[in-house]
Amino acid sequence: MPAKRKSSSRNSAPELLFGDLWEFDPAPESAAPNLKDTYSLFIGGKEVAPRSRNYFESVNPATEKALTRIPAAGKADIGAAFTAAESGYQNYWSKLSGKERGKYLYRIARLLQDRSREFAVAESLDGGKPIKESRDFDLPMAAAHFFYYAGWADKLEYALPGASTTPYGVVGQIIPWNFPLLMLAWKIAPALAAGNCVVIKPAETTSITALKFAEILQEAELPPGVVNIVSGAGATGQLIVDHPAAKKIAFTGSTAVGKAIMRSTAGTGKGLTLELGGKAANIVFDDAPIDQAVEGVVNGIFFNQGHVCCAGSRLLVQESIAKAFVQKLKARIATLRVGDPLDKNTDIGAINSKGQLDKITELVASGVSEGAELFQSKCSLPKQGYFFRPSLFQGVTQSHRIAREEIFGPVLSILTFRTVGEAIEKANNTAYGLSAGVWTDKGSKILKMSTALKAGVVWANTYNKFDPTSPFGGYKESGFGREGGKQGVADYLKINA
Ligand code: NAP
Ligand code: MG
Repeated sequence: MPAKRKSSSRNSAPELLFGDLWEFDPAPESAAPNLKDTYSLFIGGKEVAPRSRNYFESVNPATEKALTRIPAAGKADIGAAFTAAESGYQNYWSKLSGKERGKYLYRIARLLQDRSREFAVAESLDGGKPIKESRDFDLPMAAAHFFYYAGWADKLEYALPGASTTPYGVVGQIIPWNFPLLMLAWKIAPALAAGNCVVIKPAETTSITALKFAEILQEAELPPGVVNIVSGAGATGQLIVDHPAAKKIAFTGSTAVGKAIMRSTAGTGKGLTLELGGKAANIVFDDAPIDQAVEGVVNGIFFNQGHVCCAGSRLLVQESIAKAFVQKLKARIATLRVGDPLDKNTDIGAINSKGQLDKITELVASGVSEGAELFQSKCSLPKQGYFFRPSLFQGVTQSHRIAREEIFGPVLSILTFRTVGEAIEKANNTAYGLSAGVWTDKGSKILKMSTALKAGVVWANTYNKFDPTSPFGGYKESGFGREGGKQGVADYLKINA
């Protein structure tokens, strides 16, 4: 049914009324994800059943139905993976020139591109993200990281100019569930380019694309043991962290687990990089291009259901424009389509898991009980699956939990400010320091803000823009180390004493 039009005055353009009046035909993505009934671990270049004999189900969060069985690697499996990685390093990877290593990375990048539709569907099925994001963001970015780091493999002397370096040898890598394949690419590509072999664990709720990636490695004929993929829960991650053969741990996930890993590795001599949580300020000044800023704020918080470490989850808007800005924001949020992740028209897919939905629900309830004013889109939600309405809170103060804690869902907390100084103080008043956004017409204000904001990335008049050449990482409790750029490859090299 066409949208109804309402003429607000004789000369102004008619206003489109969305809501229930506006219907899109379903536009399901049709590529097959080619899932197996049961997956295997990938150790020493082979798909192997877990010695633990334990499996768990991977669930589609949009339907609550099981998709496939995933192996839960135990101690013997992790031992076998590290033995294979050590052998892969000694017998193959350390013997290849950078140029030869680079050829494998190029091959992996091209194979990922070839199968990108299939992987995008698998990613959306397993994690709940809209197909237009997995198709247009996760897959192209994952391939781009392999292409980019393929180029570094024979240029390592430029990563840390003047220093003599060696790879760590074998590294352990642990990744979260919000960008499963992309986080895998961020980890594996620079590690291999720098000459390391890896044992990597995907997150429990989103292991499918990591295990499918094993098929790509086999097609690329990567030498055995160079990459080992072991699925399992937090306990499997802990086994990786504690294994003596892991000479470096690279972790992306929550600050709480990051702190525990830092305690576990203290005094062991292992290298460590931590990419942790965030509570970014997206700051809108009264001289900003307002309509673009509204789009940027929407993208900043609702991209990937808000399951984004660098999400612009705190909107700081200048008081003089706050009322008008929030009005426009609410009108825009009302048009977001929530629903089937595989529908190409979907803006917001499913929340990744029941546990994450419960966490978001609890934090939103805390915002209401602490006195903030909740606005939620009135869109219809699917009857089955884990979904949450796009939401925003007004009247938020710095002491509210929703202003301090990472919600990791489609929920925006709005605060106001009057001066540049107040904006800087409020933006930096957080334990985190991963990212920030600044919206203004003035270049000088952008430069002042980006110097004053304690955040690894500051976006100006845009948000959530990524590129493999650009380093990404945190300050304070958002962690240390960088992924992307030459800093990303340098973090996989040891400087020789
Ligand atoms: P998480 O609970 O910390 O889990 C991250 C990974 O660590 C998962 O693979 C998890 O396994 C594993 N794990 C859990 N306990 C462990 C332990 N004791 N030892 C070793 N590994 C352990 O985080 P998440 O909920 O998956 O991810 C969301 C968090 O990641 C958010 O805080 C987000 O901000 C952060 N993140 C940061 C970045 C960045 O670049 N800074 C990027 C993306 C996400 P299971 O899943 O099986 O429990
Ligand atoms: Mg799943």
